[in-house]
Amino acid sequence: MNTDARIYVAGAGTFVGHAIVRRLSADGFANIVGVPDLDDPEPDYGDGAAVDRFFERAAPEYVFVAAGRTAGIAGNMRWSADLMLDNLLVVSHVIPAALRHGVSKLLYLASSCVYPRNARQPLQVSSLWTGPVEPTSAAYAVAKLAGIRLCDAYRHQHRAPFISAIAANAYGPGDDFSPEQSHVVAGLIRRMHEATRADAPAVDVWGTGRPRREFIYVDDLADACLFAMRHYDGGDPINLGTGISTSIADLALMVRDVVGYQGELRFDRSKSDGMPLKGLDSTPLHELGWQPRCDLRRGLTLTYESFLSSIVTTAAHRSS
Ligand code: GDP
Repeated sequence: MNTDARIYVAGAGTFVGHAIVRRLSADGFANIVGVPDLDDPEPDYGDGAAVDRFFERAAPEYVFVAAGRTAGIAGNMRWSADLMLDNLLVVSHVIPAALRHGVSKLLYLASSCVYPRNARQPLQVSSLWTGPVEPTSAAYAVAKLAGIRLCDAYRHQHRAPFISAIAANAYGPGDDFSPEQSHVVAGLIRRMHEATRADAPAVDVWGTGRPRREFIYVDDLADACLFAMRHYDGGDPINLGTGISTSIADLALMVRDVVGYQGELRFDRSKSDGMPLKGLDSTPLHELGWQPRCDLRRGLTLTYESFLSSIVTTAAHRSS
């Protein structure tokens, strides 16, 4: 991948897609096509003909597929059909267009909800398809599994240079902090920040606090995507993780510390825990030579700082 290669990040406006664009720009890639605020915007992924015309016009050589709506556990349950359909449209329009236009390589990004709920830990790709997925994210997971399967089917049927990757739980600056859609890190940061301002005596943490998640800082994930694009070429998906998992209770304590909240944490057992454990076995990635750079504590601090500056920016915007 030369720095003058034409690269398309499908979903450049999403949390992870935006981080991939940032990473590519920092590495000197100057031919990134389809970035929303440039002349040639991203196509509407629901419109197959528009996606095809985009590929014709932009002629990307390398494609990262990070498009499609995502949400945390509450949003995943509430908008399960919307999330599934949105992601299926990405799969059925972007991946075939990449094949038709003969791209040099494509990476499809999925997430760890594609694993069976009770698969052995840490999750290895050999466990895919061996059991039912977690019900709270099943619709979304099926769409992501479709993307993984289509890449593999294209490899078999057309010798297409398509790979897929399974990411750990990403968090970081630019995340969705809305109460309805946020994942746990952004959700807790916002709630504890607001509780601090309001001097509230307690903050709810959903579920029992016992589930464990593997958190990856979004810039590390972007770096891992670029690394996989450069160094991995196999039919099986490759896990993109840090190898470190954290319980939700420990995460909540860390967020409390970073935000400086003094009140109590109250576990709301009426809320779903979702998948009990979601640690990834990323040995193949680590053996290829990739390692994360940002640990959870530092990542949470950077995320909180970005949340604070986004509030300042929004407030300035409102008053102007
Ligand atoms: P998941 O990996 O798909 O389950 O994604 P989430 O990041 O939404 O949730 C991870 C875990 O954190 C689940 O067990 C949630 O119940 C728990 N959790 C605790 N508090 C919150 C919160 O405020 N927001 C979200 N999204 N999850 C929370």
